[in-house]
Amino acid sequence: SASHSYIGRFAPTPSGPLHFGSLVAALASYLDARSAGGHWLLRIEDIDPPREQPGAADQILRTLEAFELFWDGPVFYQSQQNERYQYAVELLQQRHLAYPCRCSRKQLRDYPVYPGWCREHSPDTQDSAIRVITSGQFQIQDRIQDYCHWNMADIGDFIIQRRDKLFAYQLAVILDDHDQGVNQVVRGFDILDSTPRQLQLLSHMDLPVPQYAHIPVIVNPDGQKLSKQNLAPAIQADERLSLLIAALNALGHTADSSVTSCGYQAVMEWAIKHWDIDRIPGCAGIPVTQLCPES
Ligand code: GLU
Repeated sequence: SASHSYIGRFAPTPSGPLHFGSLVAALASYLDARSAGGHWLLRIEDIDPPREQPGAADQILRTLEAFELFWDGPVFYQSQQNERYQYAVELLQQRHLAYPCRCSRKQLRDYPVYPGWCREHSPDTQDSAIRVITSGQFQIQDRIQDYCHWNMADIGDFIIQRRDKLFAYQLAVILDDHDQGVNQVVRGFDILDSTPRQLQLLSHMDLPVPQYAHIPVIVNPDGQKLSKQNLAPAIQADERLSLLIAALNALGHTADSSVTSCGYQAVMEWAIKHWDIDRIPGCAGIPVTQLCPES
């Protein structure tokens, strides 16, 4: 039935153009969805304007098209969802699962986990951040990383709406995945430590838990994740065949020359047909130098 069919997504933050690491993430979620005959949705996570770069969202869409990673349905923009996020924050407060907090960064400097001060004595003012109550333990059976387990006491109550009223990624992502019907999440290992926060929010909101697959992230020679912050180069469509081959290698899928000599579309078709998530290495990071020696 429709409710059991695969719905996946790619959810980039438009803080810059796609780089090789984000191509690998886009490709993994795309191939997993397409090989299952599922839907692949695109969501632009533009809820944090200070982190965004003008034009980056459009640039990302054009790059995905140039790589023939065509998504289903309209593009979903988080910047248009504020009312839903606000409603959820209010609902959590009404259910006493979230509370206002005015603790400053400076006050919390020496505490790795929020010490819960405002949980007991909430400030009586509009001018506060909102924190969600955490408790208990959560676990998942990740399709790549296997069994993962967290104790919420190690994480602590976290912010879902900042004092400047911006909503946290943790809240937006679970509401939007649910709103879009997403039941399969394929994304980078760097987000694995956000997963318990999202599981806590799903539990508070009585929403179903999707299946997760956290793929290794591509790291530079110093072991840092490729990112816009460390100026990973934007990927170029005129190198798309070699980039696709390198991205597939990162994901444990090496096409032989009888396929790669037939061009981009042949490699993409081969990848959809031969996709096997068990071939993705279950590690945190893969050095880019192993994949694209020239870069
Ligand atoms: N927007 C996040 C990022 O670009 C991804 C969120 C997700 O896949 O859950 O890192």
